[in-house]
Amino acid sequence: MVDLNKLSPPALRAAMKGGTAGWGTVASATENVRYVQALPKIKARRRCYCGCGNKATHLGMANGMGLTRGCELSMQRWAKTGHARAVTQAPSAAHGDAS
Ligand SMILES: [Zn+2]
Repeated sequence: MVDLNKLSPPALRAAMKGGTAGWGTVASATENVRYVQALPKIKARRRCYCGCGNKATHLGMANGMGLTRGCELSMQRWAKTGHARAVTQAPSAAHGDAS
C-alpha cells in the first residue's frame, strides 16, 4: 500500500487520478498519469536533452517512478504530451508513425 502522506503534491494528484496499482514498481509513460517533480539541486548535473542547453532539473515521473529527466519546460511538455521535445516543427516527426 502506498503511504499517500509521503507523496509530493504532483504525485498525489497523479495517484488520485490514476490509482496506485504497481506504484513504484511498474510505470508506463503511456498508461500511467505523468507528472513532474523537481530534482534536488545536487542531482541536477546532467544536461537536458531537449536542446535548451540547461541542466536537467526536473524528473518526469509516472506511477511513483522517474522515467525521464530534463529542464522544467521539457518535463512539463512531456507530462502533457508524452514528448519532451516540441514535435510540431520537427520534420522527422511528420512521417506518420508518431503515436
Ligand atoms: Zn530543456
